[in-house]
Amino acid sequence: MQMPEEERNSSNTNGDGGPQGAPGRHVLQWHITHRCNLFCAHCYQDDRAAHTSAEALRETLDKYCRFLAKINCRGHVYLTGGEPLLHPAFFELAEEITRRGMAFSVLTNGTLIDLKTANRLALLHPAFVQVSLDGVGEVHDRVRGLYSFERALKGIDALTVMRIPVMVSFTAQKSNLNSFPALAKVCEQHGVKKLWWDRVVTDTPQTTEKLALSTRQFRRFVKKAARLRERYKRADGSSLISMERSLQCMDGGGCYTCHPGVNMVTILADGTVMPCRRLPFTVGNIRDGELDELLSADPTAQKLMQLPIPEECADCRYAKTCRGGAKCVTYGQTGRLFVKDVNCFYKAKK
Ligand code: SF4
Ligand code: SF4
Repeated sequence: MQMPEEERNSSNTNGDGGPQGAPGRHVLQWHITHRCNLFCAHCYQDDRAAHTSAEALRETLDKYCRFLAKINCRGHVYLTGGEPLLHPAFFELAEEITRRGMAFSVLTNGTLIDLKTANRLALLHPAFVQVSLDGVGEVHDRVRGLYSFERALKGIDALTVMRIPVMVSFTAQKSNLNSFPALAKVCEQHGVKKLWWDRVVTDTPQTTEKLALSTRQFRRFVKKAARLRERYKRADGSSLISMERSLQCMDGGGCYTCHPGVNMVTILADGTVMPCRRLPFTVGNIRDGELDELLSADPTAQKLMQLPIPEECADCRYAKTCRGGAKCVTYGQTGRLFVKDVNCFYKAKK
């Protein structure tokens, strides 16, 4: 499951992009189960059996609330998986989250959502539901399985009927780039609020070769997405197409700060805590300690949270906000963390 575009709003940066004190909002990306009804090509979950017990859900929620009280933030919980709707305690958990004064959203493959499920969800007022679509029709099905596009679209329709804000996430990889304009059209026709995109994260030379965009492909794609953003502009000035992820600022999008662990944290179904789901670093298990203790005891998490600017980025006009681009994409392809983004095409003016 991919992290939603909305998490950029939790970025803990001040006006000049540097770290600041207590922020207003903190995001927990919570993989409550690793079970899933689909088998996607770029899925991060190796272990498809882990499932958080009802007791562990309660304990984790207690710990997260204690953490929020310490950092003086309002929590926003992204319930995800695997497929989060497969967890039998999903609705009870969502209800408990809202009862404790936090917002919640759902990151789902959309295929299990019918009108009845959407109606149950609507009663709990999620901030949004994000459905992952990697193209239209068979382009999506090649990545996520036969008939998964059609089923996800039915899920989107059920959500929009119930007036739940729907975001669609698109993972750009070599095989699906050309499908993006058609996907934008489908999203508009089906009442999607936002279509956002980011690059696929790979972790071996083979997957990089097969899936990852070259810098040239990425650059062209940023331009294409920027044109679509204009085409799908609405009367209120917003657009269906979101350009708010790493390096998308170079074609007029918003500037994104990669901020693992800063104002966001991931907890997996077995309790593993990670600064960011798209980076392969863990800081321990939530069952063994408090969240702040786990994060502050880990040197890599601490360094990530300082948001260092890579040396090669020093002359860049975006450096204070971009801070080297997407660590997940770059680390997956180079094994290096605090360096310039592997797809960066910025050239400083001499
Ligand atoms: S590593 Fe950075 S860019 Fe990648 S998902 Fe995490 S916060 Fe976002
Ligand atoms: S040079 Fe560095 S800071 Fe500037 S856009 Fe590229 S990755 Fe981001």
